Amino acid sequence: KKLGVALVGLGYYSTNLLAPALQKTDYCELKGIVTGSPEKIPKWQKQYGIKDANVYNYENMDSIANNNDIDVVYVVLPNSLHAEYAIKAANAGKHVWCEKPMAKTAEECRSIIDACRENDVKLSIGYRMQHEANTKTIMKWAKTKSFGAIEELKANAGFYGTNISPWRLEQEMGGGAMYDMGVYSLNGARYSTGMEPVAVSATHSTKRPEMFDEVDETTIFTLEFSEGIIANCRTSFGESMNILDINCAKGSYYLEPFQAYSGVKGKASDGTVLEPFGKNQQAVQMDDDALAIINNQPVLVPGEEGLKDILIVEKIFESASKGGQRLSL
Ligand code: NAD
Repeated sequence: KKLGVALVGLGYYSTNLLAPALQKTDYCELKGIVTGSPEKIPKWQKQYGIKDANVYNYENMDSIANNNDIDVVYVVLPNSLHAEYAIKAANAGKHVWCEKPMAKTAEECRSIIDACRENDVKLSIGYRMQHEANTKTIMKWAKTKSFGAIEELKANAGFYGTNISPWRLEQEMGGGAMYDMGVYSLNGARYSTGMEPVAVSATHSTKRPEMFDEVDETTIFTLEFSEGIIANCRTSFGESMNILDINCAKGSYYLEPFQAYSGVKGKASDGTVLEPFGKNQQAVQMDDDALAIINNQPVLVPGEEGLKDILIVEKIFESASKGGQRLSL
């Protein structure tokens, strides 16, 4: 039997990426929805054959505990709501998949991890890149040191946004470029080195202050790792960029784009070409996570991985508020 997944929050990502991907998965399938928008329900039920009994709203979601059709609850809400609903899901005894960024604060991340541990359910964070084949190759090169020791890297993730969902412009909701796109740069710097940074400095800038009066439009941050490795990272809602470029003692390689939904590709200085991976990224991610549940194995991207990023994000904001001061991690 495939695991039954309920999506919580039927916005852009659930509608356009996750629900279609759940039609291509081998080990899990879309069985339920949790939504605060009743007008969306008929279309979703019709399109995906979702039973009345598997349709919930935010008020009655706790009763999902009694629903054997649902094994996994996937939280796909605005960032500030991840913790509340991930904890509800865990307390209902369901495995939890939680979108990136894991939550707004490290404290919230820890409370999600604790709730999942207490309820003995698995927790995966939606860092889909770590399931992607070319990304896995460069993660492997960090270990094998195929191009010598890493010396410096660049991780830039952003887009020029004109029609950004309102919550992404609100501080309270966990909006801003750093939480949204910056975690790709940050996670990319961490997974491509396989190391944890020891210090950070950061600054914010904006070209559209009328739009970005609460949250960051652009954040530039430098991560220092041990052995003198420097990661120059940049994220923005005002600038299109999508590259992870790694310089090593004996060569270099890059992925560009490095965080797109498809077509992640790159090249190495020895001529190796990293061809785009053909499979649906979200389907691979959800099948990996479903198999970890079925086989009771550790998940690829656990809650601790989401927490590590948010601890650094908190320091990035602190550094920027102190005029770019270098802070130890
Ligand atoms: P969205 O704005 O399109 O959808 C958010 C949904 O939450 C909407 O359906 C909205 O009705 C609902 N919602 C419930 N309570 C709300 C409230 N109080 N305020 C605003 N909306 C509320 O956003 P999205 O792009 O689908 O992003 C949702 C989550 O998924 C975010 O955490 C985002 O970072 C993540 N995401 C991840 C990826 C990825 O590639 N892994 C891609 C896109 C989004």
